[in-house]
Amino acid sequence: MKTSEFRDVFVRIRSDLLVIDDSIMTDRHHASNGNYEDNDPQNQIGGIIPAFSLSGWLRHGMEKAVHERDGTACHPGEANANFRKDGVYSRDLDAGYHPKGDCLEDEDGDGCVIHDLFGGFGNRPGKVMRRPIKFSPVRSSVDYTRGQAEGHYRRLNRNIVSRNREDNREPLRNTEVDAVANLDGAWHLSFREPKPEFIALLAEGIDYLDAHQTDFMHQLGGARNFGGGIVDCELVNPLYNETELRRVFDRGKGNTKKMDAKDDEWADEYLPEFQSALAERVEDAS
Ligand SMILES: [Zn+2]
Repeated sequence: MKTSEFRDVFVRIRSDLLVIDDSIMTDRHHASNGNYEDNDPQNQIGGIIPAFSLSGWLRHGMEKAVHERDGTACHPGEANANFRKDGVYSRDLDAGYHPKGDCLEDEDGDGCVIHDLFGGFGNRPGKVMRRPIKFSPVRSSVDYTRGQAEGHYRRLNRNIVSRNREDNREPLRNTEVDAVANLDGAWHLSFREPKPEFIALLAEGIDYLDAHQTDFMHQLGGARNFGGGIVDCELVNPLYNETELRRVFDRGKGNTKKMDAKDDEWADEYLPEFQSALAERVEDAS
């Protein structure tokens, strides 16, 4: 089976509220012509969700999928980082991680599947390229085939209040955070070198994240204590063509018969073969 046709894949991501700390890039100044009001429902502001938070979230889901197969994953941090001091590092090594890069047998090796995907030392890039998601509140301008999303930029104001009882919850300061509300779109991932085990692990990692979407550990971005970052996610069937991919996001339309047939084909023929490749690779590494 050829994997080269699965170089580009899409993950559907839906969330009521995402707070990517303070790193959402927006075009609000441009769009508002200087008259931007935070609370104006007429704001037609789009922006970009950088890939950094998305990548960490995905990696964590994939690590868990490796653990579920009784494998260990490359630790995401350097062994000499500060967290080593307080025992977190050795605790992680007990919980399904090996020290970053220990899986490399030689300089040309690929290491474990997580190392292969996300990269490691020096200038070795990971083989999965994670792109930012461009979002827009104007649905008709969203191109899902280019990894875009419908979403509404919001600026949330948060009062930080004093925790001293005698202060009677006096506001100390007011902070503003950038958020995206009602996000629904396609996250575009590209494999620099598609391998069957990569696709299987992506599918399993995304399933894991979807099943654990309300776990604090598997929410995305900030504001998790306030219901932010709960993400519905699914791998869009990589057999779909562009028209079918667009149709996934069209609330008025369901699957065509052709899409249903491709779903069966994916589940019965493609995925099992990719999963055997993953099983083999995880087993070989342990
Ligand atoms: Zn590794």
